[in-house]
Amino acid sequence: MKNLPRTTNESPWTTDEVRLFRTTVRQFVESELVPHQPRWRAQHHPDAQAYLKAGALGMLLPDITDDYGGGGGTFAHEAVVLEELARAGVIFGASVQCIVAHYVLAFGSEEQKRRWLPPMARGELIGAIAMTEPGAGSDLQAIKTTARRDGNEFVVDGSKTFITNGYHAGLVCLAARTDPKVSGPKGLSLICVETQGLPGYRVGTPLEKIGRNGHDTCELFFDGVRVPAGNLLGTAEGQGSFQRMDQLAYERLSVAVGAAATAREAVNLTTKYVKERMIAGRPLMEYQNTRMVLAKCRTEAQVGRVFVDHCIDQFLEGKLDPVSAAMAKYWLTETEFRIVDECLQLYGGYGYMTEYPIARMWADSRVERIFAGTNEIMKELIAWSAH
Ligand SMILES: Cc1cc2nc3c(=O)[nH]c(=O)nc-3n(C[C@H](O)[C@H](O)[C@H](O)COP(=O)(O)OP(=O)(O)OC[C@H]3O[C@@H](n4cnc5c(N)ncnc54)[C@H](O)[C@@H]3O)c2cc1C
Repeated sequence: MKNLPRTTNESPWTTDEVRLFRTTVRQFVESELVPHQPRWRAQHHPDAQAYLKAGALGMLLPDITDDYGGGGGTFAHEAVVLEELARAGVIFGASVQCIVAHYVLAFGSEEQKRRWLPPMARGELIGAIAMTEPGAGSDLQAIKTTARRDGNEFVVDGSKTFITNGYHAGLVCLAARTDPKVSGPKGLSLICVETQGLPGYRVGTPLEKIGRNGHDTCELFFDGVRVPAGNLLGTAEGQGSFQRMDQLAYERLSVAVGAAATAREAVNLTTKYVKERMIAGRPLMEYQNTRMVLAKCRTEAQVGRVFVDHCIDQFLEGKLDPVSAAMAKYWLTETEFRIVDECLQLYGGYGYMTEYPIARMWADSRVERIFAGTNEIMKELIAWSAH
């Protein structure tokens, strides 16, 4: 594949080097990830081998400094990965891998960074972030999993649910209550659990979802699991809630970037389809309703893209505030779903068939309004920030 040419519709944060990176990522996604999608959906998880290949390409931690094995790029590189995966309709664990790595980068000791980040960048160690529990989703203060200090170890008891990358995870960034006497945010800590061969640790079978089945989402169980006290993230116990708040903008922006890219791709695919689909002797594009729907969807996708690009620029300058990240997450995921749904309608019955990418986009994108903080929680945050 030749390098992608500069286009007038290119994001402002695209440099020559980022454009080159996009070429490499696109080629990899098309040749190494797309062909395996049906099998991954059937087995409910990606192949471990795919992480190794993505790691060899520098696609897993592109915005982590090369001192720790990362690509040495910026969030622009991570945005390229998110956009290219979304464009191809590939659900893969690269985004969560990067989110976990950023927790380690931000709060890990030098020793922890050197131990975990290079194998994560190579795809040898897969990361997961485990916050949600059956009784604690939006309200993380209700977390019941405990990590009781016993000498130089924590003893972890409890369970987590809906954990992305759970099947492959060798490093689980776990939110647990380290001080049972403190009920509020100060009682929570983040502890990195190295899961390989760990007694008392168990992973449930990947959960059956309405979409995203090519990617593992699991329950995790901890029964008297012993973790070295040195695996705590941060300098003291009780910093977990603050650490999470600090990283939310990254996670929410990542979701928004993928949503904006999916919305654009849905419009592109549908435009092609309606030009080819003949109804009563005329292409579907020649019916006025089709053009009105597509014009609206394309406009909304473009408006969303401009806002996401603005947020990326802000993030690159270290200025993205949590409220703008929440706005991007909420607005882009709702707009994305509306666009995909309207596009699907233009496919008629074919849009309901999973062999068509638009059907998979519809099922895959629905959850984006729920995870990384539900959109209702985003709206609460946005509303309370207005003075
Ligand atoms: C596919 C998938 C992948 C996921 N990956 C991960 C992961 O990797 N790690 C992880 O820790 N979690 C993960 N999650 C969990 C996800 O973050 C939670 O599902 C989400 O935070 C919502 O929590 P809940 O499901 O308990 O819903 P609830 O909190 O029970 O919410 C139910 C409804 O109540 C609304 N609600 C809740 N509180 C308020 C409020 N204060 N005001 C108004 N409305 C409110 C919600 O918006 C929602 O509509 C994943 C979930 C899914 C489905």
